[in-house]
Amino acid sequence: MAKRPKPIHQMTAAQFENMFPVGDDDACKAYLKARRWPEGVRCPRCGNPAVYDLHSRKWHWQCTKCAPGGSTGYRFSVIAGTIFENTNKPLRDWFKVTHLMLTSKKGMSALQIMRYMGFGSYKTAWSMCHKIRAALIEPEKKLGGIVEMDETYIGGKDKNRHWNKRSGKRGVAADKTPVIGAVQRKGNVIARVLKGVDGTSVAKFVREAISNKVSLLATDSWPGYVDLPATLPHAMVDHSKKQYVVGVVHTNTIEGFWSIFKRGVVGTFHKMSAKYMPLYVAEFQFRYNNRFNADIFGTAIAGC
Ligand SMILES: [Zn+2]
Repeated sequence: MAKRPKPIHQMTAAQFENMFPVGDDDACKAYLKARRWPEGVRCPRCGNPAVYDLHSRKWHWQCTKCAPGGSTGYRFSVIAGTIFENTNKPLRDWFKVTHLMLTSKKGMSALQIMRYMGFGSYKTAWSMCHKIRAALIEPEKKLGGIVEMDETYIGGKDKNRHWNKRSGKRGVAADKTPVIGAVQRKGNVIARVLKGVDGTSVAKFVREAISNKVSLLATDSWPGYVDLPATLPHAMVDHSKKQYVVGVVHTNTIEGFWSIFKRGVVGTFHKMSAKYMPLYVAEFQFRYNNRFNADIFGTAIAGC
């Protein structure tokens, strides 16, 4: 057995409370400023680093380079251009919801967030969660080395259904959403909602996700993988022949990712609409790709 890497401890609830005391939005603003602009404040419109601190207004700056209509300048706050703009919730609430989402392996539903945070409206919680999910979409680096690729189906009306995808693979129900994913062993995962379940969609995903420096691309023998470019070092295991691991060829890692995702879907979100599926995929992908990042919270805030 390979040695498991040491578990990484991300910020605990107690550490969060210490760093961001209740009612202290300044602590949050200072943190956001440091994460957003690690090399000093820049204008969110034009990127100009030579901005003036508006001493009369805390957490506000002025850029004279992109002044609209020759006025005194563009004035902006620490939340300008972030998902926290135009919201009536204090920054600390946003931070807390982000922290809750990141520390929960299977995710938290808007209903859980609403109750936990004591929000008066489900819509508020729902919209905050989706804005945070959108902020978790990271620039992707193509996968190399040994890569596993697999597809799965999410949703369906029968919520007591056994989630063994092998049973539902052929003759996919119309209400299920196909998701494809690839994972580099010991590395990152890239997952996407598929428009169609066919060779063309698979080929498009392969072009976007798999580097040409891949040394092995392992899949099962699903027909969508049969016509992959001959230049790819592609090997398949045939699950229908009870073939699961042939040397290094297996898809256990990506199946492990699906299993976390599906437990989140079934156990936490109950109904995940196809429309917002890409956001849920982004959330699970971010948590997975930052699983060894002790500063996952700071990384998330930097992307907000
Ligand atoms: Zn500017």
